[in-house]
Amino acid sequence: MHNFLPIAYFQNQFVPFENATVSIATHALHYGTGAFGGLRGIPDPQNPNQALLFRLDRHCKRLSNSARFLHFDLPADKIQSVIVDFVRKNQPKSSFYIRPFVYTSDLGIAPRLHKIEKDFFVYGLELGDYLSPEGVSCRISSWYRQEDRSLPLRGKISGAYITSSLAKTEAVESGFDEAILMNAHGKVSEASGMNIFIVRQGQLITPGYEQDILEGITRDSVLTIARDLGIPVVERSIDKSELFIADEVFLSGTAAKVTPVRRIENYELSNVRPITEKLRDKLTAITENRDSAYKDWVYVIPLD
Ligand code: PMP
Repeated sequence: MHNFLPIAYFQNQFVPFENATVSIATHALHYGTGAFGGLRGIPDPQNPNQALLFRLDRHCKRLSNSARFLHFDLPADKIQSVIVDFVRKNQPKSSFYIRPFVYTSDLGIAPRLHKIEKDFFVYGLELGDYLSPEGVSCRISSWYRQEDRSLPLRGKISGAYITSSLAKTEAVESGFDEAILMNAHGKVSEASGMNIFIVRQGQLITPGYEQDILEGITRDSVLTIARDLGIPVVERSIDKSELFIADEVFLSGTAAKVTPVRRIENYELSNVRPITEKLRDKLTAITENRDSAYKDWVYVIPLD
């Protein structure tokens, strides 16, 4: 069971987390017509009277875009002000994860997005490591990443996570930690809730947007950091066989941060990972606001 933060935002007000409950008839529960965000925050290691949120503006913009796909007009600045108030009210004492969610809250049946009540809630939980920082084993999933012609992949649409769930469970039940999904064209897309990077001959490679990936905010951060460090970067399609001969492979995501991959299917990868470690260390320093060159990525919230 998770340690939930005590206060949630629900139906336009802050309430105890336990009181933020929905009916079994809620439309989104049946049709997957919700969309969510996921942000990490920490108490400032340099100043316990403030909390730090990583790339708050980008997360709010992505959720606002997701809401648009659900025919719900929810401006990014509205999301941002609720999240800031949410953190102030909760006064988190350890590393935490915020889950903002938009959804069709109506109690009527029939799948649709028009003429239907919507709502926006926010809750949070304490969250340490999501995947082992020592490295994970990955199975190539028998489930494929969806295509944008079937659902909007630029949004974090809740219904889409059936594919992630099938893939993750298939991987875990067959002895792996995580799943890597191909897209409909047989190219590497991403993991169940993370983007993927490989390193070959000193070059950092990740699938581009045309490979049906989520527009990951950690992915964007890693690419920027790598370019700033002078690491050659290329966004291109990746074949399955390249995964097995890569010098390094890692996953990126808000929950997973930068997680090394140590094995894919029956191929053991090297445990020497200079580029993965360099990027991970830099990302950690940035999220802890120890790197002034990236202070624009860190939103500081006073807690008193
Ligand atoms: N892909 C999927 C399917 C995800 O759910 C996530 C987590 N949000 C990511 C990639 C990574 O995105 P981000 O770095 O923005 O957390």
